[in-house]
Amino acid sequence: MLDYDVIIVGFGPTGAVLATMLGDAGIKTLVLERDTQVYPLPRAVHFDDEVMRIFQSIGVVGEVLKHAQPTTGYEFRNGSGEVLMRFSDGAVMMPSGWHSGYMCHQPSIENAVRKKIGGQASVDVQLGASLVRYEANADHVIAHYDDGGLKQARARFLIGCDGASSPVRTQAGIELDDLNFDEPWLVIDALVSDPSRLPYDMLQICDPKRPTTCIHIGHGRHRWEFMLLPGETAEQVIDDSFIMKLLEPWNCADVVEIERKAVYRFHGLVAKQWRKGRVILAGDAAHQMPPFAGQGMCSGIRDAANLGWKLEAILKGGSPDTLLDSYQPEREPNVRAFIGLAIGMGQVVCILDEAAAAQRDAGMIAMRDAGGEPMQPPPLPPLTVIVDGSEPPVGTRFIQPEAHGKKLDEVLGNGAALIARNAVAVSMPVHALDDALLTPYRDKLCEWLDRYQADAVLVRPDRYVFGIGDAAMLAEAYRRALA
Ligand SMILES: Cc1cc2nc3c(=O)[nH]c(=O)nc-3n(C[C@H](O)[C@H](O)[C@H](O)COP(=O)(O)OP(=O)(O)OC[C@H]3O[C@@H](n4cnc5c(N)ncnc54)[C@H](O)[C@@H]3O)c2cc1C
Repeated sequence: MLDYDVIIVGFGPTGAVLATMLGDAGIKTLVLERDTQVYPLPRAVHFDDEVMRIFQSIGVVGEVLKHAQPTTGYEFRNGSGEVLMRFSDGAVMMPSGWHSGYMCHQPSIENAVRKKIGGQASVDVQLGASLVRYEANADHVIAHYDDGGLKQARARFLIGCDGASSPVRTQAGIELDDLNFDEPWLVIDALVSDPSRLPYDMLQICDPKRPTTCIHIGHGRHRWEFMLLPGETAEQVIDDSFIMKLLEPWNCADVVEIERKAVYRFHGLVAKQWRKGRVILAGDAAHQMPPFAGQGMCSGIRDAANLGWKLEAILKGGSPDTLLDSYQPEREPNVRAFIGLAIGMGQVVCILDEAAAAQRDAGMIAMRDAGGEPMQPPPLPPLTVIVDGSEPPVGTRFIQPEAHGKKLDEVLGNGAALIARNAVAVSMPVHALDDALLTPYRDKLCEWLDRYQADAVLVRPDRYVFGIGDAAMLAEAYRRALA
């Protein structure tokens, strides 16, 4: 039987990003993927700055940027075209060093990540290989899979990145917490020969006659999402003639070609347990949300980033398996905050009752006229487990200044980074502000340390702040946290 450190089931964005991280760390990894190609149906069109920083950490930004562009404005309109709320005039540069949002074509992004994995010696990708079942015991997991014949592989950990219907989650007997949102939508991706004929901003048309989303993806593509009305069936709405009727108001029949179409149920679900011993869930296997906030794939990729460095610490750095106890407590509050936002947006959009819609419109227009803020992403709860301290900035994302076209993380490299005002001898390498490499970033880093009156900051490999204070004490606290 073949032996690995980690078996990843599912090669969607979550599994692919995790595999790349493990590959960069030289961890022997097997990826089992049922399909032989990237999933062909329409899904994510948006990701955020944190995810771009994760793409940066795995060295795929150049490839990703060929298929992604900063977001444009985002407007909610009513059935008569009045603006109910407008989010922004487009992406803004964030402290993380990347734009607040990017529009993308999910299959191209997945292919960009897969391309990197192709060159990683320690990662073995088996396409057309379906997990049939697993056996988990105290010190390993055996995956039984079918790639045309039945095979087995053994590893210390098995990660279920196997999507919404996750066979791993099912076999583990893990239940889902249903957050009571469940709406059927038709999703269409189209190739557009003349994008100037279609809106440039993302639009949520809150029309009770047919709630509709219209998204300029860029690179010659557009996305529409249409809510199914009571009595309509998936078979009925997926028909091309029905779709062309839905597209009539956009007056674009001569410039669009339907590329992909599917009917989805948009819902909010969270697995009650994300880890059962050596078996761990990530991405859609662990949580699902309606796409209104564009955060489902982002959340899976954040799961991968949280797991990646912890698995490396265990498998390469000798940390105990219990480090993984921190995974769900660190990730679940963040995921639930985004699900809350997505469901909140969905509840605004998916109103079919005319009177309720009119009431909603009146309230939102009054709020808009009073200068009220549009619905904002929730304040994200800071991490509270593998950190040293309980007050922000501890547990929040660290800044990434840029100088001369080079971003800070490129200088720090992957792994934890201890940044101190002065060079000191401690139990881990220190990036001192007087080091020539940090000179271009010194002002921004000093400003940050001044704001928190700290001598040093220790940043985790996933770029969350572990702690601030004295360099030697931080290094010791980090050593203890990982031991
Ligand atoms: C209409 C729509 C719009 C969306 N828009 C956005 C957006 O704008 N932004 C955003 O961030 N997210 C968005 N999402 C969500 C996003 O697409 C998903 O969250 C993301 O694809 C989940 O990635 P994953 O890797 O966890 O799972 P998946 O992409 O589902 O991958 C799971 C993989 O596991 C494989 N698998 C399953 N069973 C087995 C088995 N037994 N053996 C081996 N392999 C198996 C599957 O073949 C699949 O390749 C959207 C979703 C939809 C439906």
